[in-house]
Amino acid sequence: MIKEPTITTLGGRVTCPRCQAVSKRSKQQCRNPSERGKNNCRFHGSRSTSAKTLEGKKRRDNARYVHGRETSALRDARKHKLRELRELEAVMLEIGMI
Ligand SMILES: [Zn+2]
Repeated sequence: MIKEPTITTLGGRVTCPRCQAVSKRSKQQCRNPSERGKNNCRFHGSRSTSAKTLEGKKRRDNARYVHGRETSALRDARKHKLRELRELEAVMLEIGMI
């Protein structure tokens, strides 16, 4: 997909930088103008000033959770345990226990 760098607003009188965000759902580029000096509109992260404190940065690095019940560390631990379980299951199948 080729992103359009500008958008024309106010009935064609103003051309300004266009938000570069692309919808996950529709796969179309956002139609809002981007914030001044930024690549995205206010809905797509231009207002964010990023994490400043060490604690905030750690929280940001761990932040791909939806409900706040999971962290990447928790998912990693689960992944390793499930791998262990699969290996055990393979061994049990091999020796005829199951
Ligand atoms: Zn946008």
